[in-house]
Amino acid sequence: MKPILLALICGALAWGQASHPRILDAHVHHNGDPAFLPKLVEKLEAHDAAALLLVQPKDLESVRQFMAQHPGRLIGLGQIKLDDPQAVALVDRFHAAGFKGLGELTGPKADYHDKRYWPVYREAEKYHMILLFHTGIVNRQHPEIPSDVSSDRMRASTLDNIARQFPKLTIIGAHLGNPDYAWAAEIARWNPNLYFDVSGSTLIKKQEDYTFFKSIFWWSGVVSPHTPKGGPSAFEKLVFGSDVFGGDLEEMDLELERYQKMLDACGVSKEAQANIFGGTMWRVLERQ
Ligand SMILES: [Zn+2]
Repeated sequence: MKPILLALICGALAWGQASHPRILDAHVHHNGDPAFLPKLVEKLEAHDAAALLLVQPKDLESVRQFMAQHPGRLIGLGQIKLDDPQAVALVDRFHAAGFKGLGELTGPKADYHDKRYWPVYREAEKYHMILLFHTGIVNRQHPEIPSDVSSDRMRASTLDNIARQFPKLTIIGAHLGNPDYAWAAEIARWNPNLYFDVSGSTLIKKQEDYTFFKSIFWWSGVVSPHTPKGGPSAFEKLVFGSDVFGGDLEEMDLELERYQKMLDACGVSKEAQANIFGGTMWRVLERQ
């Protein structure tokens, strides 16, 4: 058997096993430098972790090969642009290469829920993909260059209709809609296929006030006709994401620490934390 084929089969088996790495980082950007990948795998091994890796189309083939040779640590998401006329074809290409979803989707020319993007979501839903959307405020890396970007088109609430229209997608909103936390949590409360990560500046901004998040994820254990049946902790609408980008792997350590401090400050149980740090996304991947 060819080594690459063997590695692919081992990789497939790795997801089917009961014992996954403890952590699944759902938000890691590949910076396009081939030297980044072995460093990332080393970091993941040190944390007993795996990652959803966000990959540009130009890096698809090299990352596919690397993943085949290093099974069990990396799961690919394809970084497409929603406004790219080739977007639907790219969804198929990433799927054929074994990628499990798309992201980070960002910078749309219209609101995320605009019907012009539905063919992309429909195609992704065929494959039960995971879609990671940027939500909320977004950086402005080149202020001197005019750019058609608006955080208003990426409000957390624009994911509500997508989650309802495409129930077989699993959607992660990055950054908990910063600063629209309440909207993010409320739409996640009613959409079982919608989660958020709280990467970015939020856990720095709120570091003196982590119990604030108890007012955002307020419905733990609440029984009422106005609240869907859920897990014991409302915080389980969060998943772990570090938003490592530009090759800055230290951010993974820092973000793990911040998540841990915030969840401990809010009294989130160890069982719920295990789901937030990995369990929830592993189950999604097993269902795919
Ligand atoms: Zn983002």
